Amino acid sequence: MLSDNIMDDIKQNTAVLIMTGNEIVSGKNIDTNSNYIANELFRIGVRTIRIIAVPDDKEAIHSALEEAAKLAPIIITSGGLGPTTDDITRESVAEFFGRKLILDNDQLKILERKFRNAGYSKMPENNLSQAMRPEGSEVFPNPRGSAPCIFVESKGIRAFLLPGVPMELKGIMTDSVIPYLKENIDTNESVFSRTIRVVGIGESKLADTIKPVLDDTGDIEIAYLPKDSLVDIRLTAFGESEICMKENINKLVEGISNIIPDKIYGYDTDTLEGVVGNLLLEKNLTVSTAESCTGGLLGDRITSVSGSSAYFMQGYVTYSNDAKMSLLGVDPEIILKHGAVSEETAVQMADGARERSNSDIALSVTGVAGPTGGTPDKPVGLVYMGLSDKHGTIVKKLMQRYGLERQRIKLRSAYFTLNMIRLRLLDKDLY
Ligand code: ATP
Ligand code: MG
Repeated sequence: MLSDNIMDDIKQNTAVLIMTGNEIVSGKNIDTNSNYIANELFRIGVRTIRIIAVPDDKEAIHSALEEAAKLAPIIITSGGLGPTTDDITRESVAEFFGRKLILDNDQLKILERKFRNAGYSKMPENNLSQAMRPEGSEVFPNPRGSAPCIFVESKGIRAFLLPGVPMELKGIMTDSVIPYLKENIDTNESVFSRTIRVVGIGESKLADTIKPVLDDTGDIEIAYLPKDSLVDIRLTAFGESEICMKENINKLVEGISNIIPDKIYGYDTDTLEGVVGNLLLEKNLTVSTAESCTGGLLGDRITSVSGSSAYFMQGYVTYSNDAKMSLLGVDPEIILKHGAVSEETAVQMADGARERSNSDIALSVTGVAGPTGGTPDKPVGLVYMGLSDKHGTIVKKLMQRYGLERQRIKLRSAYFTLNMIRLRLLDKDLY
């Protein structure tokens, strides 16, 4: 039960998220809702300080609410607003706030209409519970589903109860919760954030390398977010003066950029494939790919950019030795002598692809993605990446030691090959 003087020591503009559902805590479903909500809140300067996942169990929901109310003035729950007996969020929250559940006649009419429109002659009895809300609460509409969002305010705590279905939850967040919070919370604190996007350096080496400029960053939060072998450095400031925050963050972005200029492929919403695409467009060049271990992933990344048809000519997926020979003209002797995973084969794959597709540049990838097929000589994670252009052919060897899952090796190889062409195109002596 919610006690008085709860608000004495808690920070404004903070939130606790409570994700309910047996399927969440049992591992059957992945909780994507908290990720979405936290991101949306972050953008309006509300920091999520705890995410609690609980089963569909009244005791568990209660203790989560107790904890949340001690920590933050904003509580957002997800799930458990459905019509079945396992949907108990509404009831648990009403009890917690010491409110009775009452029938909302307007909601009932809306619900009955939704069922009629869906072709039911009568609303199922069970759904009556979805028109109930704690006394003194408000509702925000849910045009994409049956359970509306319930909003309860008491003793300085604001609780939003959202349905668990992601599409419904997102709609209500965008249409109602975010606008409400923007309007009603004291945001003398705002947030400013920038992201530096990095390739070709691991997160711990990265942190070490940029350390010199991180000594005096004041209140700027720095997060290293590795994903698919790329790393984002996210810089965030919370404060009162937006101009001041922007200035401090941009100064830090500049400081970091000066230390690792080659490793940074972009900022904020840039993507590696987008940046490569822009360079190709700018220089009016075309590209093709010859892939073995990545099985088309490199071509997939390149063509994930809208407008890539202006520069992407052809992708060869040559998984077998025969395909490498017949489609790309790789010399059988080379494969026999050096193997399909070799510098020599990577060179011939790239050269063959460039010539046969009539492209300005061709990229090749050949390696051992594992988990089977590795040998002491050519272990899992060994990848050769080639680039052929009018200046010649270069090959890079990638030896991946960590995280040897197959998909990770494939993605990393694709991204590192994209980085190879990025660096080549940025070389002022060549292009
Ligand atoms: P319903 O009316 O469908 O019962 P509800 O508000 O009661 O909605 P839940 O029953 O908890 O919500 O969840 C409905 C579905 O929404 C789940 O089966 C699941 O697919 C999805 N879902 C629930 N919680 C989450 C979550 N945290 N992240 C992602 N998806 C979720
Ligand atoms: Mg449910």
